[in-house]
Amino acid sequence: ASRAAPMRTRTTCGYCGVGCSLEVLTRNGEITAVLPDHDGPVNRGHACVKGRFAHGFVASPDRLTRPLLRRDGRLEPVSWAEALEHVARGMRTAVAEGGPDAVAAISSARATNEENYLIQKFMRVVIGTNNVDNCSRLCHAPSAAGLTASFGLAGGTDLFEDAERADCLLVVGANPAEAHPVVGARLLQRVLRGAGLIVIDPRAVGLARYADTHLRPRPGTNVALFHGLAHVLLAEGLTDQEFLREHAIGLPELTELLAAYPPERAAAITGVTADGLVAAARLYGRAERPAIFYGLGVTEHLHGTDGVRALANLAILRGAVGPGIGYGVNPLRGQNNVQGASDMGALPDALPGYQKLGDPAARARAAAVWGVPVPARPGLRIPEMFAAARSGVLRALWVIGEDVCATDPDADRVAEALDSCPLVVCNELFLSETAGRADVVFPVASWLEKDGTFVNFDRRFQRVRPALDPPGEARPDFAVVHALAAELGVDLGCRTPADALAECGRIAPVFAGLTHERLDREGAVPWPCTDAGAPGEGRLYRERFATPDGLAHLASPPYLPPGEEPDHSYPLVLVTGRRWAHYNSGSMTRRTDDLRLDTVDLLDLHPADATRLGLRDGDPVVVESRHGRAELVARLTEETSPGQAFCAFHFPSSGVNTLTSSHSDTVTACPEYKVTAVRVSPA
Ligand code: SF4
Repeated sequence: ASRAAPMRTRTTCGYCGVGCSLEVLTRNGEITAVLPDHDGPVNRGHACVKGRFAHGFVASPDRLTRPLLRRDGRLEPVSWAEALEHVARGMRTAVAEGGPDAVAAISSARATNEENYLIQKFMRVVIGTNNVDNCSRLCHAPSAAGLTASFGLAGGTDLFEDAERADCLLVVGANPAEAHPVVGARLLQRVLRGAGLIVIDPRAVGLARYADTHLRPRPGTNVALFHGLAHVLLAEGLTDQEFLREHAIGLPELTELLAAYPPERAAAITGVTADGLVAAARLYGRAERPAIFYGLGVTEHLHGTDGVRALANLAILRGAVGPGIGYGVNPLRGQNNVQGASDMGALPDALPGYQKLGDPAARARAAAVWGVPVPARPGLRIPEMFAAARSGVLRALWVIGEDVCATDPDADRVAEALDSCPLVVCNELFLSETAGRADVVFPVASWLEKDGTFVNFDRRFQRVRPALDPPGEARPDFAVVHALAAELGVDLGCRTPADALAECGRIAPVFAGLTHERLDREGAVPWPCTDAGAPGEGRLYRERFATPDGLAHLASPPYLPPGEEPDHSYPLVLVTGRRWAHYNSGSMTRRTDDLRLDTVDLLDLHPADATRLGLRDGDPVVVESRHGRAELVARLTEETSPGQAFCAFHFPSSGVNTLTSSHSDTVTACPEYKVTAVRVSPA
């Protein structure tokens, strides 16, 4: 007998920000295969191990299928009606006792654009507060702030296709071979076809072995390194004077600052060689079409926004952004929809489309659509929410699809915040570390079970379509937000995800030309897209920059040291990041049999340090910082520089984020995950 043909559903990968198009094959409600889409605009028939194989979690027996409510200290299954009524009552009490700002929500980079739009609308319309943020706070908030200050808008400057025309790639603080594998492969392809490659990263990341120059700065010294490179560009005449005259401002101030960063001094601060630094500057400066790609190694620092701006300086000096050559400055976004969560206004200081709350016209536009005034006072950022909970000011916190107890820094303090807050609500797939501390847990749909759109790292909107029904009573976040609003007596309108995106476009002109119908027809469209009849803008700045004066702004921040330095007690510098087969807290990849390749978090150590510590490969180790303690397994590798250590945070039981500090970017409060002083000893 012949078996029925599988159902085929085209959707967008829910792991990293590359945004690969996938075809999901299902039969009888089960996934039989996930294939890369040959017409995918970014992946063109490719996908990495996560996109292809990390789908077993959807059928995990650990999936939450009923709402949970804490009674007598234990989470027990209850009906949706009871869970919603409990949360609505708790939120009403919080507002009655502390005003609207006593309630906050952490929205989700895992959720669709439409869900993020609805969540921020819920907080502003139903509760009356701007206390809404998303995990870009923990990764690329410095990119949004830095790129906006330098160029005018918060997105990467160019489409990825431009990189394929670049003749020099500068890859900084990123490990695309593991964290963005499809992009990593395409960058490598470009290099193998002749483009120059400069890698700046403390670790010997995968691309580094193909680099013309690999600079390995001490973690926390990026600003000095970028200034050293800029010094060489200026000193050797590798700048575009015409571009600078017509399109940039701030050159005299920067020239004065850069006098203090000759290669020898920059080398002394950063630990790279002066010769290497000069070689890198010449390669970038002499290229005709240089492109910059960077990751969290630039942003997750005490001076992350300064790092983004100092990096942007290089492209401006070279005339390699915007109306110049236009190969740009492009952040590699981590989570699948971290760009979209911010685009949709799940931010405490901005409405959809990055319209500042301080702009009365933007508030009036939103108020006209929503039918209520929009509060003007900026809300709390994620670290401030935790501080407010610890101090008793915040009385209700809704955490949507983020395991903050596993992934946020100084995790013991995060747990303390949740334990101090009278009402903690989670939307989750599994009983995560965070959900385990909640008062109410709503079971929700995964990315394979929902309808909407994501925005990938180069600003492309793409459709997300359900290949499966969610298990049991689990619902999409979109439905949960609607249901809670209704319980609080408010109809949020926009009944479908398509309606929500259309409504967002009425508030944010940069999305006005985007609809589900159009995306179904065209596949992918980048923003800005102000008109349904016009294509989206791949290159953000064709004629002028989007700053008020239309100019690119060179920045002159001095180098300042990181929040903490190694010393006699904590002699190693720990850097955290991802490994290729797992994803963030690992809640999905750990529950996928095909990916049980690592089963613990490993601590990469240089063999010289391991010898000194009496450690061999595979030994269990204790890692201690000034903030906490974790238990890991040693992996000896020369990928890590002497004096440094590296680990991921895919296994919450190892407690990696109890080690990381609460130092954060002075502009955006993005945590300094990339510099923690630690000591290591045998377990
Ligand atoms: Fe998914 Fe990223 Fe892998 Fe593409 S590269 S399949 S988007 S995890």
